[in-house]
Amino acid sequence: MFEDIPVDVSPMHEGERIRAAKMFVEFAGPKSIGAELIQVEEDVQDGSIEVLGPELTEMTQGENYPFGISVKIQGEKLEKELEGVIERRIHELSNYVKGFMHLNQRDQIWCRVSQEAHEAGFTLSHFGKALSILLKEDFPLIENIAVTIITEESEVKLFLETARSAYDYRDARARELSDEDVDVFYGCTMCQSFAPTHVCVVTPDRTALCGAINWFDCRAAARMDPEGPIFELEKGEVIDSEKGEYSNVNATVSEKSQGTTERVYLHSLFEYPHTSCGCFEAVAFYIPELDGIGLVNRDFRGQTPLGIPFSTMAGQCSGGKQVEGFTGLSIEYMKSPKFLQADGGYQRIIWMPLELKESLREFIPEDLYDKIPTEENAESIKDIRKYLRENEHPIMERLSQTKDSNEETTEITELDAPSDFTEWEDDTTPVAYLPEMSVPGSDGVRIILKNARVYAEKVIIKKERK
Ligand code: SF4
Ligand SMILES: [Zn+2]
Repeated sequence: MFEDIPVDVSPMHEGERIRAAKMFVEFAGPKSIGAELIQVEEDVQDGSIEVLGPELTEMTQGENYPFGISVKIQGEKLEKELEGVIERRIHELSNYVKGFMHLNQRDQIWCRVSQEAHEAGFTLSHFGKALSILLKEDFPLIENIAVTIITEESEVKLFLETARSAYDYRDARARELSDEDVDVFYGCTMCQSFAPTHVCVVTPDRTALCGAINWFDCRAAARMDPEGPIFELEKGEVIDSEKGEYSNVNATVSEKSQGTTERVYLHSLFEYPHTSCGCFEAVAFYIPELDGIGLVNRDFRGQTPLGIPFSTMAGQCSGGKQVEGFTGLSIEYMKSPKFLQADGGYQRIIWMPLELKESLREFIPEDLYDKIPTEENAESIKDIRKYLRENEHPIMERLSQTKDSNEETTEITELDAPSDFTEWEDDTTPVAYLPEMSVPGSDGVRIILKNARVYAEKVIIKKERK
């Protein structure tokens, strides 16, 4: 089947990572543009593989190129609703190709070809061919398939527009429904190949954290392949509608995560937040000093106010872990009226990158929009606090209330503030919050603390004198 493809194609290569030193070229990703799109059409020329723009043979080693993966499919029983789910499989299937690496989804894709594959004579048309065979194998409903790989910049730009309007159409449709309107949600375990205990719960209000699959997509997928990775999930009894906790969601997640996750709050960052695999579009993180929540999207390259970039934070909360105070989420979920509703929704958001904020302008309550700082206004907790105070963000009210009630009930230790004391946040907040920390022990024993909050009776901050 793959005889004329000069590299091996098999699920065995799925976990392959191509480091910069070993790559021939890179496609899309943070340094370029790109997208993938599957469209169900009436008339598709089966087996057609086209490369629009330069082939690998015409590319220069070490360079970045724009990249489009356009797949058209036809089949008597293929519904348009299946586009999103079939498209989501491109990620896994592309990684079957030895020497080809595919990350993320939709217009976030990031691909690499290894030097080894290039030297073996691998081309983009081989990639297109492998993809078309694998997709057809995976989805027997596909009768005809045509793949076009686009590398010409102007063509990729046009394709990106088409792809984005298709994504918007799918997303907007899902926005018309809410969690109460349905009796069943859906679960997805597609990411268990690398996050073995991760289970996504997809509801009308909570699009999957990869941003690529909504409730309608799941419904179509579960109908097409009831034994597949996307399955119907009866809600069961409502335990807490505000937090989004349902008896049967808990039971199913527990079963499918081999007992690792026993409870899930769909709309909260605290106690039992949704687990995160690794392909989330953004992360919501708790900022304990201000009792607020920050948001950071994958595209943001700077530092978050926690002093770490997206990539480090993603590493701490991915892999299917349930980490209180952190959750991976989709940008679409930030558009839902139920977005972290149990925690206060946007009332509780105290920092987000400017680009993300602008893209959500219609969805952030108008009176809050200017009160939420971005990297332009604040880079540290101290700056955020100042900005929130100056702009009368509602969190300040919340903070002063908590402080008042704490003062009534807690005995506060007097601070021993040295003359060069720089900043003291709040007597009762933790000085450190660590999703996971390992402490070296003796005799080969390692102690792992999960969700540790470190409280201190006394904190002395001294400036080192030179
Ligand atoms: S992130 Fe979730 S919904 Fe998306 S493919 Fe992975 S498991 Fe499925
Ligand atoms: Zn995932």
